[in-house]
Amino acid sequence: MRHSLSRIVSTVAVLCLGLLVVAGSAPPSATAAGPRTTVIVSPHPDDETLRLTGYIRYAVERGDRLILVAVTDGGASAVRAQFGFTVGQLKAVRRAEQVAAWSYLTDNGQVIRLGLEDGAVAGRKAAITARVKELAAQYGPTTEFYVAALLDDDHPDHSATAEAVRDGGARVVRYSRGPVDDRPGSVYRPTSGYLWGAQRADAAYDEVGYASAGVGFVALEDSGYASVVVP
Ligand SMILES: [Zn+2]
Repeated sequence: MRHSLSRIVSTVAVLCLGLLVVAGSAPPSATAAGPRTTVIVSPHPDDETLRLTGYIRYAVERGDRLILVAVTDGGASAVRAQFGFTVGQLKAVRRAEQVAAWSYLTDNGQVIRLGLEDGAVAGRKAAITARVKELAAQYGPTTEFYVAALLDDDHPDHSATAEAVRDGGARVVRYSRGPVDDRPGSVYRPTSGYLWGAQRADAAYDEVGYASAGVGFVALEDSGYASVVVP
């Protein structure tokens, strides 16, 4: 097929004009505020998936920007000896499980690692609170914080994380129950269209996550990946 030079030139000119028009007109959704930001705060790798899979999917489908604050790398898990890992190896595997799960849940959600010592979060609450304040300042007053833990949680790292986020004073802070806790709250489940993402996130924990929290993962699957969120 032959094209005359003038035809090609005019086609290129139209394409360039189109690009200029696109570049010069802001899309209607690009407001100063941008999308809402939802920050998920997880004491250990697997807490975000065990407690907030359903809610994370809900926030993603709503169009939120998703950020995970990973408080520890889970280096104190009792399953370390079972795998023959050093602490460094255990942390590496747990970080990898968490990043993979987070990717399946959010596609391109950001991860911020605080690197606090597993088991010693209570003494470092100020670091979490400071990061919460920074994120609230950076992303604005619509930013919402969802903690993969409860204020009265049995695990001291969990309650310390919940208290630290609360102390950040953000407009919206919510907490979440574990999958074996059947007390009531607001329930979120992934829609059937996104069930595969929840299942992949779950499967990302098939090594250390399943060994350390197997009962929780079974309960999570049985619940249809429900999240139970409380004020
Ligand atoms: Zn935990």
